[in-house]
Amino acid sequence: MTFDFLIIGSGAAGLLTALRLADHGQVGIVNKGDFNMSNTYQAQGGIAGVMDGEDSYDAHIQDTLKAGVGLCHEDVVREIVAQGGAFIQELKNLGTPFDTLVDTDTLHLTREGGHSARRIAHAKDATGRAIGETLLNHVLAHPNIHCLNKHMAIDVITSRRLGRHGGSNQCLGVYLLTPDNHIITVAATHTILATGGAGKVYHYTSNPHAATGDGIAMAWRAGCPVMNLEFIQFHPTCLFHPGGSTMLLSEALRGEGAILVDAQQRRFAFDYHESGELAPRDIVARAIDHEMKKQGKDCMFLDARPIGKATIQAHFPNIMQRLLDVGIDMINEPVPIVPASHYLCGGVKTDVAGRTTIDALYVIGESAATGLHGANRLASNSLLECLVMADYCAKAILASSHDCTRMALPEWDDSGLSPETERIQIKQNWDEIRLTMSNYVGIVRSDEWLRRARRRLRVIHDEIASYYWHYPISRDLIELRNLSIVADLIVRSAQQRQESRGLHYSKDHPKTLKHAGDTVLWPEQL
Ligand SMILES: Cc1cc2nc3c(=O)[nH]c(=O)nc-3n(C[C@H](O)[C@H](O)[C@H](O)COP(=O)(O)OP(=O)(O)OC[C@H]3O[C@@H](n4cnc5c(N)ncnc54)[C@H](O)[C@@H]3O)c2cc1C
Repeated sequence: MTFDFLIIGSGAAGLLTALRLADHGQVGIVNKGDFNMSNTYQAQGGIAGVMDGEDSYDAHIQDTLKAGVGLCHEDVVREIVAQGGAFIQELKNLGTPFDTLVDTDTLHLTREGGHSARRIAHAKDATGRAIGETLLNHVLAHPNIHCLNKHMAIDVITSRRLGRHGGSNQCLGVYLLTPDNHIITVAATHTILATGGAGKVYHYTSNPHAATGDGIAMAWRAGCPVMNLEFIQFHPTCLFHPGGSTMLLSEALRGEGAILVDAQQRRFAFDYHESGELAPRDIVARAIDHEMKKQGKDCMFLDARPIGKATIQAHFPNIMQRLLDVGIDMINEPVPIVPASHYLCGGVKTDVAGRTTIDALYVIGESAATGLHGANRLASNSLLECLVMADYCAKAILASSHDCTRMALPEWDDSGLSPETERIQIKQNWDEIRLTMSNYVGIVRSDEWLRRARRRLRVIHDEIASYYWHYPISRDLIELRNLSIVADLIVRSAQQRQESRGLHYSKDHPKTLKHAGDTVLWPEQL
């Protein structure tokens, strides 16, 4: 199988890239589940962009820089923020059903934590799904785009890996696991990894099952550096439910007036920050974490009653219904919540076009680290980043003179494997990684906890290495291997940062240094 452009991932970043490239060649777009298994489809709040006369680019830029606590790359922030309005308009033109003011075509803009103005365009409380479905409809209608659902990328194929050491290292394609567990070789002139985040590294997460950091691990194994992986955003308000549900309660609820209370109905957010519930996410998450630990409770509560029944029904119908499905009536009672891993600010080090250190390999969307978010992401900037990166990536590819001399690529060698491993081994390692990360590398960290995490992860890593190449490959095993690599990279990044900044808080280094830079880890060169 051969494509001009091979895109791994069908979230917002992958879908828009496919559309941008489709008139210029054959596009393959791969996802390991169904179209709805992506962070994009989960996004509730909206997409940020300056659309209101009262708002300004400068205000959006300043809010982003403030949230990023000195680590944002200002040129990148300016570049991306400047595109907000245009991309929201394009999505609207493509058919995204954004909410509008009554009887007008003017967008209803909401406000989220850290934003100084109303600038979040949204489609009720299911914006990501609305954007994803709109882009998908156009993708499915294009004759040059070929969708490979339930196909999982295992690794990228590079010229270095094939032992061709002359010239630059080039990406030549990808190995894919098919739905019936065969491994196929797919050659491509350009390969784009748009595989999303890695929320599954933690026990509680708002992310869907797909978020196992595959693209980051693949790029790392191929030789790409990663940046700022210690900055994990924990969403303050995920539903706490015995069924282990990972449903998120959108920030927009607090924007519209919901408050945080403990079991005694005591409002506590103002004890931690003058903006109360509208403080930046890391501060709200740490406040909840601190109250839970101080009071020895499993959860705190989000009380949406101040918003009022009419607004809840009009703006949050999906959240309301999903809560009713698990027996919680948010109009009349507080909702139990916990902070959960939500967004990965770091990723593969790239520019805004997703260029990596390997020719013809691009990484875009949540898997990439461009410098937009710095030490903390401003709410609703990530969908915007996905779209801008997709656009720039496609332009960079079309402008590039990369000429991939199509060479025969070797098939995956699975000869001499033992019969399948017992799955309990995979489950055990998977659970151990997530608990280790939650307990030692969560919202609050310490030198000793990071050392312990590193030691445990090394043991798990060695175990996985001992059976990865000896048993038939499976989806769980691929994800487990990727998860263990990304977890280790997060810990190593956290160990390098000898201060507290944004989303990285260390008990041993509580101060924010005057000067600090990005954390960049380089793999051993192949
Ligand atoms: C609950 C929730 C709410 C959010 N709310 C907002 C919001 O309101 N505003 C905002 O801006 N951002 C929000 N975010 C963040 C935002 O949704 C994501 O950052 C963004 O959608 C990421 O898009 P993406 O295209 O990079 O990746 P994703 O949308 O996650 O897509 C990744 C794709 O890669 C595929 N994939 C992964 N690994 C493989 C593999 N090995 N082989 C094949 N396919 C693979 C997956 O199947 C999926 O199709 C939210 C995130 C969550 C989880």
